[in-house]
Amino acid sequence: MSEFSLIDDIRRLTAHARGDVALGIGDDAAVLAVAPARQLVACTDTLVAGVHFPVDTAPADLGWKSLAVNLSDLAAMGAEPAWALLALTLPAADAAFVAAFAAGFAELAGEYGVALVGGDTTAGPLSVTLTALGTLPAGTALTRAGARAGDAVFVTGTLGDAAGALRPQAATESSAANAALRARLHRPSPRVAAGQALRGVAHACIDVSDGLLADLGHVCAASGVGAELEADALPVSAALRALFDADACLELAAAGGDDYELCFTAPADREAELVAALADRGGVTRIGRIVAGGGVRLLDSDGEPVPLARTGWEHFRS
Ligand code: ADP
Ligand code: MG
Repeated sequence: MSEFSLIDDIRRLTAHARGDVALGIGDDAAVLAVAPARQLVACTDTLVAGVHFPVDTAPADLGWKSLAVNLSDLAAMGAEPAWALLALTLPAADAAFVAAFAAGFAELAGEYGVALVGGDTTAGPLSVTLTALGTLPAGTALTRAGARAGDAVFVTGTLGDAAGALRPQAATESSAANAALRARLHRPSPRVAAGQALRGVAHACIDVSDGLLADLGHVCAASGVGAELEADALPVSAALRALFDADACLELAAAGGDDYELCFTAPADREAELVAALADRGGVTRIGRIVAGGGVRLLDSDGEPVPLARTGWEHFRS
């Protein structure tokens, strides 16, 4: 099994035709057509075995997730995904691994019409670097920098499931709730349609990968504002509530990470319109507001700050 037959397998198993791919896998570089009046949006993420995923992760899940985390970044910009490049480092020329990886990748790529147009295949410790490219109408990208005092803060879907799946009690039990959490960890659904729906509405947007408090903190820093979140408003799934008490749910939702939901700010009077627009795109919940100043504060139902120790926040500061 050579590097070239592996590449051939990847090309065959991920084949997806797009009219804007003038030249795909097989030459020295891909040639892609970007429509007039649109901008190219590019991002990349590396997943290293033993660091970003357990070494025994199913290869198909790895293929899915390597694309999902990048589509989530494109979603946070409001972009429409189009193309991807895959740099794969493998300990051995393992055709079965590559076939399963490509199948998981192709499952998600097919959902969004993403064409794999190139990459690199090398020997070494298992690691996956995925570059995703998308487009959007020029000047419409959602950034971290536009939040304004008075905006409402929203988040799509539910928070904390993926982090919950990594907790010992979730890992050792087998139940429908556990399966639901593990699905969120291994097969996250990037909020691509939601991101596009937010163009022209959201003032600032980020995808939640490191945990809500940390990621909203990036929005606040980039925008020169602060945020106040209502602890009781953070959306958590029925599965998470079935497995963890209220304090643990709050900690996982506020600081867990690996959620791949979108957190964004928008004028408060657009809440009803947003709820309607995102109802069939994972749903959306208003969780707080943007204020003058800086930093993110989590408040209880009396408006008192929730002690940071209760949220696990300090674990994410080092
Ligand atoms: P080069 O030596 O010019 O980098 P390669 O032999 O590395 O060429 O790659 C040959 C072709 O296969 C190129 O079009 C490259 O983009 C593609 N390719 C290599 N590895 C991958 C991969 N893991 N996934 C997708 N395309 C790949
Ligand atoms: Mg190469």
